[in-house]
Amino acid sequence: MDITVVGGGLAGLTAAIASAERGANVTLWEAHERLGGRARSTEPPYVVNDGPHALYSDGAPYAWLADRDLLPPLLEPTAAFLAGTRFRHGGRVGRLPSAGLIGAIRRRRLRAPRDRDFAAWGRENLGVAATRAVCGFLGVTTYEADPGRLSAEFVWERFTRVTALRSPSVRYPRGGWGSLVGRMASRAEEMGVRIETGVRVTELPGTPTIVATALPSARSLLGDGALAWESGHSLLVDLGLRRRAKDPTIVFDLDESGFVECYSFLDRGIVPEGETLYQAQLPVRADESRGDVTARMEHLLEDALPGWRERVTWRRDQMCRGRTGALDLPGRTWRDRPAIDQGDGVFLAGDAVAAPGLLGEVSIASGIAAAEAAATGARVFVA
Ligand SMILES: Cc1cc2nc3c(=O)[nH]c(=O)nc-3n(C[C@H](O)[C@H](O)[C@H](O)COP(=O)(O)OP(=O)(O)OC[C@H]3O[C@@H](n4cnc5c(N)ncnc54)[C@H](O)[C@@H]3O)c2cc1C
Repeated sequence: MDITVVGGGLAGLTAAIASAERGANVTLWEAHERLGGRARSTEPPYVVNDGPHALYSDGAPYAWLADRDLLPPLLEPTAAFLAGTRFRHGGRVGRLPSAGLIGAIRRRRLRAPRDRDFAAWGRENLGVAATRAVCGFLGVTTYEADPGRLSAEFVWERFTRVTALRSPSVRYPRGGWGSLVGRMASRAEEMGVRIETGVRVTELPGTPTIVATALPSARSLLGDGALAWESGHSLLVDLGLRRRAKDPTIVFDLDESGFVECYSFLDRGIVPEGETLYQAQLPVRADESRGDVTARMEHLLEDALPGWRERVTWRRDQMCRGRTGALDLPGRTWRDRPAIDQGDGVFLAGDAVAAPGLLGEVSIASGIAAAEAAATGARVFVA
C-alpha cells in the first residue's frame, strides 16, 4: 500500500514510521527545507527549540519512542537544578511557592468535571488563592493567559501530571528537540520512507493520505473551514546571557502564568562557554498589544534575573499564536476535536486533533492512530 504523509513535524514523522512498520510504502512531503516543524532546533552556537522544551516520561508517546530506541540522550532535573527553582507571587520572586499552590498540590486527588470552567470549580473546591495559583502555574503547559476559562477537567489533569514533584517526569533531549527529530528522520529513511523537503503540498495527493500539518494548513488542504480548535497565544523570548552563579534555574510566575527556564544548566553544549541560555514565555492577554506583553515580559525578566539587560549576548523574540497545542473549553474534551479519520482515505494527525495527551504528545498519539487506520483500513481507536 502507498501512503502519503503531508508534514514532517513530530506528527508526520511518527505517522511515517508507524505506517512503514505496517509494511506501507511511504512518501513524506515537508514544506520547509528542514524536518521537525515546531520541534526544530536552531543551529549552534545558541541551540533553542522553535517550540517544545519538555518531554514527559510518564506518557504513552514517550513509551512508544523508547520502545523503538528513538529517544536521544535525555537530561532530567538534578538536585542542583531543582534547588534553583523559584516562584513569583505577589510581585516578588522567592524560593517558596505560594500557600495557594501548596494547598492545591495537597488536593491533587480531587476529580474535576469537564463541563465546568476551572475558575468556578476551583473557587468552590480549592479556594480563591489556590485557584489563582494553579492558573499561574499552568502557563507552563497551557500557554494561556486565563486557564480559568478552560474545562476544569482539562486544567486539573495537567496540573496533577506536572506537579508529581517527588519524581518529576520531565525530560530534556540533549542538544535540543532537533536531536529527537534527527533520530526519527533517520529511522524513517532506514525503513524506506521517501522524504521530500522544501515542497509545499497545495492539493490533496492520492489517498490514503495523512495530513500531519497544523490545523490552518489542513483547513486549506481539505477545504474545510470547520477544522479549528482553541490553542494558546504566547510571547516567547530566548536569551543568551553572560553566566552568573546565582541565577535561578526555573521561575514559575504564579502572578501572570509565565515562566523563565534555564536550558543550558543541564545541557552546557547548547550555548557558548561562559554564557547561559534562558527561555521565557508569557501568555498574551485578550486584546493585548505586542508592546504591552513585551513590557510585561521585561518586567518578569527583571524580577527573575535582576540586571539581565546588561548581560544579554543574544536574543530572539517570537509570537506563538495558536501554535502551542490544543486547549479544551468547558463541555469539550479531546474527543470533540477534529477527527483523525476524515473519511475517503484522508486522515489528520497533529496536536489539535482527537487524541489524548499533553502538548506534543497529541501529535505522536494521533500520528500512530492515523497510520494504523490508513495502513489497515481499521477504524480509528484512541484510548
Ligand atoms: C512555545 C511552544 C512551547 C511548546 N512546549 C512544548 C513542550 O514543552 N512539550 C511538548 O510536548 N510540546 C510543546 N509544544 C508543542 C509542540 O511543539 C507541538 O505540539 C508539536 O511540535 C507539533 O508537531 P506537529 O507535527 O503536530 O506540527 P508541526 O510541528 O507544526 O509540523 C507540521 C509540519 O507540516 C509542514 N507543513 C504545513 N503545511 C504543509 C504543506 N502544505 N505541505 C507540506 N508541509 C506542510 C510544516 O512546515 C511543519 O513542518 C510547544 C509549542 C510551542 C509553540
